[in-house]
Amino acid sequence: MLQTAALAPAAALPAVAAATEITALSPAPLYKSLGMRPVINGMGVVTVLGGSIMPPEVIQAMEEASRFFIPLPELERKVGARIAELVQAPAAMVTCGAASAIAVGTAACLSQGDAAKLRQLPNRDGIKYEVIQQKSHRSGYEHQMELCGAKVVTVETRQQLEAAINERTGMMFYLNKAEHDGQIKAEEFVKIGKARGIPTMNDAASDATPKENLWKYTKMGFDLVIFSGGKALRGPQASGLLLGRKDLIEASYPAMSPYGGIGRGMKVGKEELCGLLAAVERYLKVDHAAEWKELEARVATIRAALKGVKRVTTERHIPVIANEVPHVMVQWNERTLGMTTKEVHERLMGGEPSIHTLQQGPGKLLISVWMMRGDEAQIVGGRLGEILGG
Ligand SMILES: *Cc1c(COP(=O)(O)O)cnc(C)c1O
Repeated sequence: MLQTAALAPAAALPAVAAATEITALSPAPLYKSLGMRPVINGMGVVTVLGGSIMPPEVIQAMEEASRFFIPLPELERKVGARIAELVQAPAAMVTCGAASAIAVGTAACLSQGDAAKLRQLPNRDGIKYEVIQQKSHRSGYEHQMELCGAKVVTVETRQQLEAAINERTGMMFYLNKAEHDGQIKAEEFVKIGKARGIPTMNDAASDATPKENLWKYTKMGFDLVIFSGGKALRGPQASGLLLGRKDLIEASYPAMSPYGGIGRGMKVGKEELCGLLAAVERYLKVDHAAEWKELEARVATIRAALKGVKRVTTERHIPVIANEVPHVMVQWNERTLGMTTKEVHERLMGGEPSIHTLQQGPGKLLISVWMMRGDEAQIVGGRLGEILGG
């Protein structure tokens, strides 16, 4: 029954919170006692600002989970199986973040389900340790693969990729958001992996919008697909999803805590396990159209606030693939306005409340309205107007 309820189409949960919700200006005694103040998040679902804010359903699940002792290995499997059903994947495992999913997934590919090989990592003896990646797909998360003993081999063309595959090749890594930057596109990449018998991993950490993406890439044929639990899904910040082929997910479990080994330091607690499950269930039920409309309204609020500001232009901007939701791009000429992006950025951060945005180069500031709450869009528009209007 639970499962049917979870899969039922849009029971229309509120996509955005009520006016009474907590904002950057709400009292925050805990953070205050640490000498810190909460900020307005104009960057989106980014790890450095704390990912996302967990909805009440997620917090409730974590709280309930926290009250009992429960055999953890079994809970991991049960939650993984339930999530796999929800996102239409052959199998799933909860990790302690997308980066952790890269590490344990790599360990699974390199050890190929062989317990002895898994134990010896990062020692490369007898291991297929080479991971092929397109140059434009370098993500900054290569260390997660290297800690398993992997050696990253970069290629640019299909021909180079075909030539790079040899008896030491253990995995092919794809950075989903770099789809338009690389010469080899996702479907072609998957096809080559299948033809040559090499498992393919797709890091789609920030790409859970639209929600259909949760099953798009496993259905496309990627052997492993990764999402961050604390970004669009609004699960616990220290959670992630590793989805994909049954045998590879099976091989990933012993790579992670509570089993000793390469991922022992990447513990997922009972609270995160149950929290992420609740988050996925919720995410599939949320009224995404209503949420989109709310984001458009916030974009319009900020643009309206800057309309009268001379020599400043704004436009609605939707990034491709990662964080694919409405943003505001604010632009000006640094020389004629006498203000650099860095200066504006710093003044926003230094104000009350502090506002964090994305610097996009000279005279270009990108504002994500995605994680804003209450009247924060209005505050951001007003502050920007003051600063840029001189
Ligand atoms: C955010 C991100 C990660 C890391 O996610 P965590 O959940 O913080 O570990 C990995 N890869 C990409 C592409 C990301 O955007």
